[in-house]
Amino acid sequence: MVLVFSDNKNLSLELLNKGSELAKELGKNVTAVIIGESDDGLAKEYISYGADKVFIAEVDIDSFEAEKYAGILEKVLKETGAEIVLIGSNKNGKDLASRLAGRLDAGCVIDCTNLYLKDKKLTVERVVYSGNAIAVEQFNSKPSIVTIPSKVFDPLKKDDKHSGDIVKKKFDVEKSASKVLKVQEMQTGDVNVEDAEIIVSCGRGFKSKDDIKLVSELAEVLKGKTVGCSRPIAADLKWLSEDHWIGLSGHKVKPKLYVAVGISGQIQHIAGMRDSSIIVAINKDPEALIFKSADYGIVGDLYEVLPKLTSMVKDKMG
Ligand SMILES: Cc1cc2nc3c(=O)[nH]c(=O)nc-3n(C[C@H](O)[C@H](O)[C@H](O)COP(=O)(O)OP(=O)(O)OC[C@H]3O[C@@H](n4cnc5c(N)ncnc54)[C@H](O)[C@@H]3O)c2cc1C
Repeated sequence: MVLVFSDNKNLSLELLNKGSELAKELGKNVTAVIIGESDDGLAKEYISYGADKVFIAEVDIDSFEAEKYAGILEKVLKETGAEIVLIGSNKNGKDLASRLAGRLDAGCVIDCTNLYLKDKKLTVERVVYSGNAIAVEQFNSKPSIVTIPSKVFDPLKKDDKHSGDIVKKKFDVEKSASKVLKVQEMQTGDVNVEDAEIIVSCGRGFKSKDDIKLVSELAEVLKGKTVGCSRPIAADLKWLSEDHWIGLSGHKVKPKLYVAVGISGQIQHIAGMRDSSIIVAINKDPEALIFKSADYGIVGDLYEVLPKLTSMVKDKMG
């Protein structure tokens, strides 16, 4: 059996796609796990996106706690006998996967970008050396635990006719050594680059923080409104918050349109946006690496190109 868990619904739907593909190949089922929520609505949604079974672990926990969740997932694994566990690779998921692997003395690979069966063994690929190489690794033991970042796989097409079972089981929550004192939501404003369909991103080609308004204006007329950036803009210059940061160590995005302005196109940036459907690059250096990844390129000074492009798009879009 293939088990799928994430505390993020969209990520669970993406994992269900890969999970059901692997399960079919193994002649087994794919089961989605919900922890602490007994509402059947979500379970039914998981079934319509490919789950053969949904296991609801009814526990008394208000919010995510890695130690406790690892204990619960361990029990679910023992109940179900799952041999492959796919966990969403957000901060919570990585914490959870490594703790679960530690408890089970199992293998665990973090941030996989491809998974397949070779000689009936789970084989995974992940980006290493800052995006310069891909490591291919194979599990020799079971269960095999992997985490998968968002946007690596698309969800399956929703199929309301797909049927599946919903199983509910109450579990006691183990005492853990740590205690959550307070959960404070991050102030992300309305930025969600991961779900954006149109992103205009800025890089170190910009001379000042104020100039980023040129990018916002283009994003606005493209009806995208989402501004992204390279690492130096968020991490070094702090002109934008980390919510905008795209790349290997930032957010992975998959918009329909990605416009990279004043971004050189180092592999670490490309790693976060290479799956965009259409990539447009604006850079004054005709040799800039970004043009190798772009579908359309404009060689020119962004301070001349952006105002003209924004005005043209505005006219076209009405
Ligand atoms: C472990 C690791 C993880 C990393 N993770 C990330 C990550 O997640 N995301 C990320 O982005 N980077 C990441 N980096 C950094 C990455 O290697 C690059 O340093 C970074 O992407 C460069 O940002 P940039 O393209 O904005 O700046 P630069 O490389 O300085 O490029 C600026 C570009 O702007 C162009 N330009 C300058 N002036 C103009 C103008 N007036 N008009 C038009 N074009 C102009 C230049 O020709 C140049 O190509 C990581 C690095 C490491 C080592």
